[in-house]
Amino acid sequence: MKSRRQFIKSSLLGLTALTFPNIIKVNADQDYDVIVIGAGAAGLAATEELIRSGKKVICLEASNRIGGRALTDNQIFGEPYDLGALWLDNGDTNPFKLFGEKISKFNLYKERSEEMYDLYSGSKKISNDGEIWKVYDGIEASIVKTRKDISPSEVVPYQDHRWFDTMHMIIGAWEMGKDFTDYSCKDYNFDYEIPESAPWHCKEGFGSLVVEMFKNIPVQLNTKVNKIDWSGSGVKVSTDKGEIKANKCILTVSTGVLASGQIKFTPNLPTEKQESFSKISMGHYNRITFKFKKLFKKKAKDSYLYYRIDSQNSKSPEGFGITVNPSDSKLCMCDPGGDFGKELLKSGEQASIDFGISELKKIFGNKIDKDLIKSHAVDWSSNPLFLGSWASAEPDAFKYREILRSSVGDRIYFAGEATAKEWGTVAGAYDSGKITAKSLI
Ligand SMILES: Cc1cc2nc3c(=O)[nH]c(=O)nc-3n(C[C@H](O)[C@H](O)[C@H](O)COP(=O)(O)OP(=O)(O)OC[C@H]3O[C@@H](n4cnc5c(N)ncnc54)[C@H](O)[C@@H]3O)c2cc1C
Repeated sequence: MKSRRQFIKSSLLGLTALTFPNIIKVNADQDYDVIVIGAGAAGLAATEELIRSGKKVICLEASNRIGGRALTDNQIFGEPYDLGALWLDNGDTNPFKLFGEKISKFNLYKERSEEMYDLYSGSKKISNDGEIWKVYDGIEASIVKTRKDISPSEVVPYQDHRWFDTMHMIIGAWEMGKDFTDYSCKDYNFDYEIPESAPWHCKEGFGSLVVEMFKNIPVQLNTKVNKIDWSGSGVKVSTDKGEIKANKCILTVSTGVLASGQIKFTPNLPTEKQESFSKISMGHYNRITFKFKKLFKKKAKDSYLYYRIDSQNSKSPEGFGITVNPSDSKLCMCDPGGDFGKELLKSGEQASIDFGISELKKIFGNKIDKDLIKSHAVDWSSNPLFLGSWASAEPDAFKYREILRSSVGDRIYFAGEATAKEWGTVAGAYDSGKITAKSLI
């Protein structure tokens, strides 16, 4: 595949909680050096770093588990199923790959580089003729070359081509979680100077690997932060379990959560800072997953399937990219994104599954119904703890990346994937947590 960010080609509520032994109790009388808010990759990495440096730290997590947008479930399909992050991008430098390959219970492997993409136009499998990939290359090159803070919709060629909607889905929804009108070409190029290498996979699930890496980090689960009072010399953090005081705090929640106003600040944060939460806005990338008895049984693991989407050049292509047989699981993951992917999942799990099946029937025929064992859909966009998949700058809003990263009053710090150099990834979130903790120390 020619995507520079291949990893991304890629109603959590009610899931079985992951067991986590080191739960500590909030002690309202106790002061901390630092309160870390959120126990995704960024918050866990920051907490680890702070503990290592001898700081008195507490990590607060609203949900009943750690890992955030990296989440492996083992019950739904009876085997590891990543509902969020799947690809360990840039494997050569990815901290989770470097950690996991040393642990015998995890099977990590590099994604094969030979041909692994099937293209369909209706039920017809078509050869990967240069014509189709020429459209892909032309669109991507136009975004990369632009380097201006404008949307791809202003510069991309081939808008009348019959494969345009498919390529829009791949370079828009799959890579950015956004449609061509909703992100900045400058941000697409931004900071991605990390040496590129092939993505890796973890058969036991990326989410499980994140949990394993941080299994000894203490986290106060089921504790939602509602308010941060920074009117004094430190911070007073109000949660649904009481108030906690510290000298400083690190916020690692998504920009979707920050922009939603679920966490109030007293006094208000500076205007530009508040604006950065909605200007580095969340994209949408959700997952509808199927397990069939026979279909895909013989397909090589980690294959991809694209089909001709015909949405008549609409704002948001109505279709998805398909990952077949990730880590030999025989699952089929259909990932819709952008506005279409957000609205589809909002219409409910069954409606999303029905759409997925109807699209697959166009390719494989009506008989697939009989072959279906189980299906599942996950909506990250509506989940109040995330409100999207990963963030990127809106057109004309590139400057807000730096504003988002900056600390306020030398006591409210920000980490998380949206602040990372390798943004939109678990590895980037991890790095941002480490870097922010070190700067604070
Ligand atoms: C479907 C999907 C597929 C993806 N695919 C990939 C991929 O293949 N590879 C990859 O590298 N990345 C992928 N990503 C992106 C990656 O998952 C994220 O960039 C990364 O996990 C973000 O980590 P984080 O620590 O910044 O944030 P989060 O993981 O969101 O952690 C923040 C935590 O804060 C908690 N929280 C929220 N509100 C509050 C509150 N008020 N009080 C206390 N706690 C709160 C949340 O519950 C959460 O646990 C994908 C994401 C999605 C959704």
